Amino acid sequence: MILSPSPNHNQRAFGAEISILMLHYTGMLSTAAALARLCDPEAQVSAHYLIDETGQIHSLVPEDRRAWHAGAGSWRGMGDVNSASIGIELVNPGHEHGYRPFPKAQMAALLPLCQDILRRHPIPARNVIGHSDAAPLRKQDPGELFDWQGLAKQGIGLYPKTRIWQGGAKILSAKALLKQIGYDVTQQCQANAYDFKKTLIAFQRHFHPRHCDGVLDQKTFMRLLDVAYSMKNDI
Ligand SMILES: [Zn+2]
Repeated sequence: MILSPSPNHNQRAFGAEISILMLHYTGMLSTAAALARLCDPEAQVSAHYLIDETGQIHSLVPEDRRAWHAGAGSWRGMGDVNSASIGIELVNPGHEHGYRPFPKAQMAALLPLCQDILRRHPIPARNVIGHSDAAPLRKQDPGELFDWQGLAKQGIGLYPKTRIWQGGAKILSAKALLKQIGYDVTQQCQANAYDFKKTLIAFQRHFHPRHCDGVLDQKTFMRLLDVAYSMKNDI
């Protein structure tokens, strides 16, 4: 691990417990450009860690400090996500500059880092999320090429097993399911006002990555039910 200290952090809100692990992509063309931005006091952004495409980990902000990575958004009713989370940036050009798969070496470095963080903080599986989960209107990262399913197989985060739904399964509206999973479906925050299609795309990016089209078809609806059901027993 390389120390690349960023000045962009402050104190976590009083009483805030670390309960969310948020993953991002940098959306920039190079590691150097991303590091320069995350350490630039003018930019006022940061994360706790950055992992480049070779698997090199940079430590930017101490975990007990509030890094500035989440911005406006919410997860499971928590609005100040920065105070409650640890943020990891993965170097990737992102959707704007040539989105590409996350290399094996990068994922191999991410895995033990996440496991280590989860050992040290009370973060439930359902609170291991992407930036777009908390800010569906503004963000797409880490996106549909990120292997959430593979991560869940290693005990990081939650991914549903496919179930066969018999007739008689209770029909809930998709919005209610999105809310139950954790998405903000209120109009409270203007920068992040609820938009069904964008929120559904954020959900698909995370849990149904081959169909991130915002269309509520049968498969997407079943996947909503699967995720909500899997989360029922996760604290
Ligand atoms: Zn992000």
